[in-house]
Amino acid sequence: MVKEIQVRVNLVEQRIEDILKKKAARSLKISSKNITAVKVLRKSIDARKKETIFNYKLAVYINEPIPETPDYIFNYKDVSNAKEVHIIGFGPAGMYAALRCIELGFKPIVLERGKNVQDRRRDLRAINQFHTVNEDSNYCFGEGGAGTYSDGKLYTRSLKRGDVRRIFENLVYHGATEQILIDAHPHIGTNKLPKIIQNIRETILKYGGEVHFETRVSDFVVSNNKMKAIILKDGTEIPVSAVVLATGHSARDIFELLHKKDIQIKAKSFAMGVRVEHPQELIDQIQYSCSGQRDELLPAAAYSLVHQVNNRGVYSFCMCPGGFIVPAATANGEVVVNGMSPSRRNNKFANSGIVVEINVEKDLPKYQQFGELKGLQFQKDLEKLAFNAGGKSQVAPAQRLTDFVEGRLSNSLNDTSYQPGLNSSPLHSLLPKIIGGRLRKGFAAFGKKMHGYYTNEANIVGVESRTSSPVSIPRKENLEHPQIEGLYPCGEGAGYAGGIISAAMDGERCAEAVIAKYTS
Ligand code: FAD
Repeated sequence: MVKEIQVRVNLVEQRIEDILKKKAARSLKISSKNITAVKVLRKSIDARKKETIFNYKLAVYINEPIPETPDYIFNYKDVSNAKEVHIIGFGPAGMYAALRCIELGFKPIVLERGKNVQDRRRDLRAINQFHTVNEDSNYCFGEGGAGTYSDGKLYTRSLKRGDVRRIFENLVYHGATEQILIDAHPHIGTNKLPKIIQNIRETILKYGGEVHFETRVSDFVVSNNKMKAIILKDGTEIPVSAVVLATGHSARDIFELLHKKDIQIKAKSFAMGVRVEHPQELIDQIQYSCSGQRDELLPAAAYSLVHQVNNRGVYSFCMCPGGFIVPAATANGEVVVNGMSPSRRNNKFANSGIVVEINVEKDLPKYQQFGELKGLQFQKDLEKLAFNAGGKSQVAPAQRLTDFVEGRLSNSLNDTSYQPGLNSSPLHSLLPKIIGGRLRKGFAAFGKKMHGYYTNEANIVGVESRTSSPVSIPRKENLEHPQIEGLYPCGEGAGYAGGIISAAMDGERCAEAVIAKYTS
């Protein structure tokens, strides 16, 4: 017999050998001798009270053996000679669109402007050390997309959008640990992601799909409102039947191209702000109510904060415990920051985006002349402002947190994980009021929710501007663009995802939509 139960374990109990079996026996009022195995189905940590509790959901096997761990099976077919689906972009949306095509018996041909994960590393080093941004290969562009050199957080709020579990099992199939199926807040880590992404590429190639790196799409041929061909940067023209456009939120040239060709796009509300960086030990002390270092059984603590200021949300985004702030610009002349963590989250800093909702209709009166590209233009201007304030390199403008809120320049800054370096700048007066003013009120409120958070031991670093896409690309119920037959806008850049998992799910949905049309 197998029974599912929930048990709570405190930190002292967590150290006791076989504690889960003992708790299970007590909970089920049976002898632990009758328990053949205990399998953890779900694990979460609750640190809201003085005592930190591990919550477990367990499957308890009573007088019967535990079945072998299932292999996660995906029924990939040989698609070498099958009908083709062209996919632009090899981020999570493009990768999962390609895998789904293979499962359904169609041949994905992926075109990706960036390099493979190994070669991409060299370009990241060039940004960090020499402040040179390769416009095709950087923290946003290249194999695995923006999700490769990230924290690899795998949670999503979009539970309705598809089968999250399927995406997780696919990651395990390609080399992620099974722990991601158990943890309430799973993450993979930037040191482990490249191998998993390489394995995904190898699956695609093994079954007859194609992945072309350093292949930037620069135009489309549309005739009679039908997608006819893709044109590459080198002028090559590739005839197509269907195109999954999964180019992400940083592919500004694609948004501009669609706009120029009168292919409908739409300005959408998005969020921008700064990254804040605290010592991880301080965040641990606040979240675990401890002094000194956290208990070794506890992971680096995370937080999630939100506050309403003048009818706009100010909130934490992509919090990276034990992580690094990274330069995520996609062109020279701009400074953009984001965050990533290794799998052990063992760096000494905790960073998080703290961003403000921007309503493109109400908050940007001076940008209305840019039409559907108004949010994009505002984003560009802010990134240029950060570039100038940092000193015209990848050095980022920064300020101590309380100095920012109280409106004075910082005489010195705290240590940072941001490799290109920081330049003390008056961000309180440089940032537009709709962002700076709201952030200042938001940070003060966060200090009341998390005592110790509002401190000059933290830096804020500008600007966190690529949290979401300032443009969406419309699509019909069958996921095709309303004007162009054969064009399937997909993933975060089109406005249908907000993270690795939701982008992957949207990739699968778009592949299914293309194939539904092929086979109807
Ligand atoms: P992208 O990942 O942006 O992929 C688009 C791809 O298209 C890119 O590889 C790009 O090179 C390619 N492309 C663009 N234009 C062209 C063209 N013209 N021709 C050919 N190819 C083109 N999300 C999480 O859920 N968890 C996290 O921990 C997390 N951390 C992050 C950390 C960082 C540093 C960054 C930058 C992002 C992070 N995100 C995280 C966000 C996440 O990475 C994105 O939501 C996700 O990658 C979006 O997937 P996508 O496939 O829609 O687009």
